[in-house]
Amino acid sequence: MKQLRSNVIRAGLEALYFTGAHHLLRPLFAGVGSIFMLHHVRPVRETQFQPNRHLEVTPEFLRAVLTHLRSRHIDIITLDELHRRLTERDFSRPFACFTFDDGYRDNRDFALPVMQEFDAPLTVYVASDFADGEGKLWWAALEMVIAKACAVEATIDGVATRIDTSTPAAKHAAFDRLHDWLRSLSGRNDLAREIGTLCARHGVDEAAICRELCMSWNELKSFANEKLVSIGAHSVTHCNLAQQSEEIASAEMSTSRARIESSLQKAVTHLAYPYGDRLAAGAREFALASTAGFKTAVTTRPGMIFSESAKHLTALPRVSLNGNYQQARILPVLTSGAATAIWNGFRRVDAA
Ligand SMILES: [Zn+2]
Repeated sequence: MKQLRSNVIRAGLEALYFTGAHHLLRPLFAGVGSIFMLHHVRPVRETQFQPNRHLEVTPEFLRAVLTHLRSRHIDIITLDELHRRLTERDFSRPFACFTFDDGYRDNRDFALPVMQEFDAPLTVYVASDFADGEGKLWWAALEMVIAKACAVEATIDGVATRIDTSTPAAKHAAFDRLHDWLRSLSGRNDLAREIGTLCARHGVDEAAICRELCMSWNELKSFANEKLVSIGAHSVTHCNLAQQSEEIASAEMSTSRARIESSLQKAVTHLAYPYGDRLAAGAREFALASTAGFKTAVTTRPGMIFSESAKHLTALPRVSLNGNYQQARILPVLTSGAATAIWNGFRRVDAA
């Protein structure tokens, strides 16, 4: 199903490109700017089973994006500057921001050098448990479990279930099914318990994944001192905030900010909601982020920034740089706003 959806999106992007429809849509839907969303930036991995591949792009693709933006005379700015332009209604030049979620070490090793080539600023959103080396990167753990296993057992909705993972196709189907099930678990502890059980049963060291992929506080300290780098908050545990009580959701936002500020001795004024889709961030979370004093907060809802976005600074949409679509020719489509406009049924702002 995910493969089908991904093929349909690819066909849509290609159709927009080849028909030139994005040229017609650009004046209406390019908006005043965009916020790009990335996760990992690293060289291509050779392994066959990579269900999380949408979360990573290569340094070469990042360079192609920056080259494209420069060729269109689009300013690459910080989130503070985006905030200023939106609140002062300074839309004289188109802009783009670069944001990276979770705090991966490859952001320092592969993304930063490319950003430096263009003197382009970036914001990295840190989940404080990840920087502690205690984060649950359950989607990466699930990938490792299924890669190793011939079959996976789990109790899904009260039913003991055995899922075949013996072939590449079976592994992908199993990943989709288990991924959707794990994301549907509501309590912060339910997901941790279930993925913990799977890891223990299949010999996957969950804590090692976090330490291998994420920057520690020590590493973040020097990373945050780089001229182009800003650090934002991304909650403490990387939970689905919308599924938590108001008290917990609010504490996830403010505690993560307090921990980053005390560890890095820098003010944190920008937030990214974990998962960030409609199921994980809605009106209540947008209000909480605003009450907590964040200048901006970003979702993973697809969209460009419009002048009206100034009224929804804690519900900003982003444009995903998705590892499944790393062709340079789709870049004009992405910056035209055509792809996100179609996704949103031609609404400009979606902040409810
Ligand atoms: Zn995240």
